[in-house]
Amino acid sequence: MVALEAVGCDLCGADDAEPLRQLRDRMFETTSQAFQLVRCRRCGLIYLNPRPPVDELGQYYRDDYAPFARHGLAARVKSQTFRREVASLWRLLVPPKRVIDIGCATGELLQSIQVHGNDNLLGIEPSSIAAATARSRWGLEVVTGTLEAACLPDASVDTALLAHTIEHLPSPTRTLAELHRVIKPGGAVVLWLPNADSWAARVLGGWWIGYDAPRHLYDFTPGTLARLLRQNGFAVQSIDHEWIGLEWSWALRLRLRDRRPDSRLNGVLASLHPAMTALFTPVAAMAALAGHGGRIRVVAMRLN
Ligand SMILES: [Zn+2]
Repeated sequence: MVALEAVGCDLCGADDAEPLRQLRDRMFETTSQAFQLVRCRRCGLIYLNPRPPVDELGQYYRDDYAPFARHGLAARVKSQTFRREVASLWRLLVPPKRVIDIGCATGELLQSIQVHGNDNLLGIEPSSIAAATARSRWGLEVVTGTLEAACLPDASVDTALLAHTIEHLPSPTRTLAELHRVIKPGGAVVLWLPNADSWAARVLGGWWIGYDAPRHLYDFTPGTLARLLRQNGFAVQSIDHEWIGLEWSWALRLRLRDRRPDSRLNGVLASLHPAMTALFTPVAAMAALAGHGGRIRVVAMRLN
């Protein structure tokens, strides 16, 4: 058991939070330890408290952690998704814009941008194995470590991408402040993240993959994320809700696995996963239409 440490609210600085729910590592089962999710009574930010110390976080990321996976159906679906996202965001990514990807994992999002025609790219990734893969597979320039440690020059970046990164950061406020320094006035930040104000979060509870304790230290809503951005000199321009039923099929799969932890069932569930995802997609699509999708993409512009 890792000794956990208490933290205050990263958004408003208060130390006044109410308990929300107990979470376990359902996805990778790296620990049997329970983690407490809390909500700040002042600003509504949802976060893990107490939580593992920053230098203990690496042990909760297995080598087959999904963003590091390189093969199979999940990888193919991911690469199609990236291609579609890059096309729809191209005005923010078009050469000669300087684009950085914070938490780039094995580099597939940057590679999609490269294929689309922009080479002016930099990845930043704390996992040295994932960073080395991004370099050797795609020839990308990748700094191992954090944005803060990369010490980029002032106003040197046009667009920063954080694809399922912000919820993993020890202090989103510190990282956003650093982004404000390195992004040019009028530049953009694009974030993909789970939406804690979603139907999926409400209905699936502790089985919602968006909670993913203890890898996710924060669970943002559109409201708390907009406040985080505003406080650090960014204005939200758009919020798009994803409509694929992934989280519903994952919740069912994790729940069944928890009841009957035998490996044959696991294999069957894995093979049924794409079909179950398709089956749940109408529910996810309705949630997205209602403005309560399980995952969102947020574009924000740096103010002067
Ligand atoms: Zn707060």
